[in-house]
Amino acid sequence: MLFSKSFIFTQREDPKVAECKSHKLLLRGGFLFMVSSGIYSYLPLGYRVLNNINNIIRKHMNSKGAQEILMSALQPIEIWQKTGRDKDLAEVMFRFKDRKDRDICLGPTHEEEITEIIRRSVSSYKQLPMILYQIQTKFRDEPRPRFGLMRSCEFIMKDAYSFDKDNQGLDQNYEKMFQAYKDIFSECGLDFIDIEADSGAMGGNLSHEFMVPGDTGEDLLFKCSDCAKYFKNEGQCPDCKKKLEEAKMIEVGHIFKLGTKYSKAQEAFFLNEFGKRIPFIMGCYGIGVSRILSAIAEVNSDEKGLVWPKGVSPFDLSLVVLDDTILPKALELEEALEGEGLSVLIDDRQEAAGVKFNDAYLLGNPYILIMGKKYLKDGTIDLEIRKTRTSKSFKKGDLIKFLKDEYSR
Ligand SMILES: [Zn+2]
Repeated sequence: MLFSKSFIFTQREDPKVAECKSHKLLLRGGFLFMVSSGIYSYLPLGYRVLNNINNIIRKHMNSKGAQEILMSALQPIEIWQKTGRDKDLAEVMFRFKDRKDRDICLGPTHEEEITEIIRRSVSSYKQLPMILYQIQTKFRDEPRPRFGLMRSCEFIMKDAYSFDKDNQGLDQNYEKMFQAYKDIFSECGLDFIDIEADSGAMGGNLSHEFMVPGDTGEDLLFKCSDCAKYFKNEGQCPDCKKKLEEAKMIEVGHIFKLGTKYSKAQEAFFLNEFGKRIPFIMGCYGIGVSRILSAIAEVNSDEKGLVWPKGVSPFDLSLVVLDDTILPKALELEEALEGEGLSVLIDDRQEAAGVKFNDAYLLGNPYILIMGKKYLKDGTIDLEIRKTRTSKSFKKGDLIKFLKDEYSR
C-alpha cells in the first residue's frame, strides 16, 4: 500500500489530551481519533491492528470448538431485572426509553442476554456442552474515562459463555478457555501472568484474571524483583524473604466459573439424562480487545514510537523509498513480499528522508526496509529491525528468504 494514498495522518507533537504513553502514541501515529473523552474511532492503522487481534482471538476460540455469534447491543431492561443486575450496574448502564416507552439499555455485558437465548433454544443435555462467543462493542457510562482505550465508555470485548450439564463439564470448558487465553495473549506478544481472583459482581465460585504489568494498570499486585513472582498480598517473598514491591497491572482478561447464578435467576433449565429439569451450569470468559490494543502499545514502545510485535502490527513492513526513480522496483518488491503473505506500507511521499524515517519509527511496523542510493548503485536493500534498531543489508532474493523465515517462526 502506498503511504501517499493512505488515510494516515501522523502528528509531530504530542497531543495535549494524551494521558499515558500508549494514548499519546496511538493518537500521534493516527491509529485512533478521539471523538470525545472516553469515545474513540479507529482509523485505518488502528483498525488493522484491531482486526489482527480479533483474528488471533477467533483462531484460538474456534480451535477449542467455540462458535461465534453476535448479540444485540440494545437490550430490554426486563432481562436485567430477573437477575437484579439492573440495580447492581445502574451507575454505569446507559438507559433510555424508546418511542413505545420500552425501557432499553446499551449492553454493558451479555450474561443475561445469552442466558435468554439458551433458555429458549436448548432443552436437552444432548445439546450440551456448548461454548458461544462474540466480539462486540460494550457500553459503560464511566465516571472517569482515562488512558485512551484502557478505560473508555464504548469498548470492544470478546465475551464467551459455556453451558454444561454438570460441574465436571464446566471444569473441562474452563480449562479449555484458560489454555486458549494463554495462547491468545502469547500470540499478541504480551508478557502476562494469570492469578486467581475475586468473582465480584459476576458471582460464581472461581475466577482467574490475566494481567500485564504496566504503569497505567488499575490493579495492584506485589512482586519479588529477584524471583520475578507476583503475589496478591504484601507479605514478603516466601522463597528469598525479600520485601515485595508494588506492581501496577493492566487487566486484559477474566474468566469465571459462574455455576447456576444466571440460569437459576432466569429459569434457564434443561432435561438431564435422568429426565430431571435442572439449571445450566455456566462459565463466562472475557477479553478486553480494545484494552489489549492499548496494553500492547503501552508495553511495546521506545523514545521513537511504537514497536508492535509481529502478528498484530498494522503492516509487516515499512518500505522507505528515498528516490522517486526506484518506486517501480519498490512496487515489484511489494508484489513479491505480498506473494509470501506479507503486507507492506511503501512510503512514497514527497517528504525529506528524516520525516519518512521518523514516521516509520512512530508507526512501529516490525521491519523497516530502505531503498535509496545503495540500491541504485548495486541493488542493495537495507533492513532495520524496529525493536533492536539493528540493520542488515540484502539483495532482493536473500531479503525475501530472510523475511519468509522470520515470519514462519
Ligand atoms: Zn523472592
